[in-house]
Amino acid sequence: MSGTSDNNGARRPRILIVYTGGTIGMIENPANGTLEPFDFDHLIDNVPKIKMLDFEIENYQFKIPIDSSAMTPLDWKKIVKVIEDNYDKYDGFVVLHGTDTMAYTASAMSFMLQNLRKPVIITGSQLPIGEVRTDGEENLITALQVAASRDRNGDPMIQEVAILFEDYLWRGNRSTKHSSDNFNAFKSSNYPKLAKIGLGISFDKDALLRHNDNKPLETFYDLDTNVFYMDLFPGIDKDLVKYMLAMPHLKGVVMKTFGMGNGPTDKWFLNEIKQAVQRGIVIVNVSQCMNGSVNPMRYKAGTGLTAAGVISGHDLTSEAAITKLMYLFGKGLAPEEVKEQMEVPLAGEMEG
Ligand code: ASP
Repeated sequence: MSGTSDNNGARRPRILIVYTGGTIGMIENPANGTLEPFDFDHLIDNVPKIKMLDFEIENYQFKIPIDSSAMTPLDWKKIVKVIEDNYDKYDGFVVLHGTDTMAYTASAMSFMLQNLRKPVIITGSQLPIGEVRTDGEENLITALQVAASRDRNGDPMIQEVAILFEDYLWRGNRSTKHSSDNFNAFKSSNYPKLAKIGLGISFDKDALLRHNDNKPLETFYDLDTNVFYMDLFPGIDKDLVKYMLAMPHLKGVVMKTFGMGNGPTDKWFLNEIKQAVQRGIVIVNVSQCMNGSVNPMRYKAGTGLTAAGVISGHDLTSEAAITKLMYLFGKGLAPEEVKEQMEVPLAGEMEG
């Protein structure tokens, strides 16, 4: 796949594929019929068309490819390290990853790779690459083409972490897996597509992340995982709320609220929240709705949360909110600083 020469003297695009696992490379265990991760050679043997791309392609694979449900921040670090170590050598990166936690990895990586000026395209598939109707072959080929795309100035078209899946390219930290079995498995409900994949690849230039400086890549590895989700539901129990917020070392909570950012108005509930905030826990309000922003000042059921010290997560996805908390606490910021930064876009993850 790799080589050094080209036809016209112009250098061929150099792309590094980072294979972490996921359905795309899985094969069926004949003993019990379950899908299990398999190695990169198997995957690539099933995509003979890749040779038709006039690219230099090399690969790095996780020693043990994994189902993305088993991903941890340690695995995110590994992927980021590979990109950092190879940043100058390649024009772009394609990360092959399971779909289950792809939006978390994409969100975390958008914060871990500061000043990114090259494409990091994450893709995978719903059907393994060895299956006749696989979506993996098309996703992989298109991801490689997107990673090699340049704009009119010859700069990389994509200069951010993005998810390529079936018909669309989405901003990574704006995406959510919304279907467990559709080929179009991802959606970005609060941000336009970066590209529509049809007969051609049609980029939405106004939606692409651009920077007006030329800062070198900066990587960040020390995520702090003392965070969790509190998903509200009618009837949520007092002891549960108390217990969760009393977790030792807890630093941040993403509270998944109703509608525009509303929650129970019971005194005990708001008191527990207020006390947690006073102990220095940062609580961020994001909506359980897929689309729209929180506006906790619209209803009394939201103003109570704000009065208790819960901050607005605006239109953040829950994946972006939780990984952003990990990043900001990982930087060693004090709760007040984390609160400030949570309301400012750092990598295109929220409305400005
Ligand atoms: N369980 C798989 C994974 O996330 C699902 C997939 O890849 O589509 O690794």
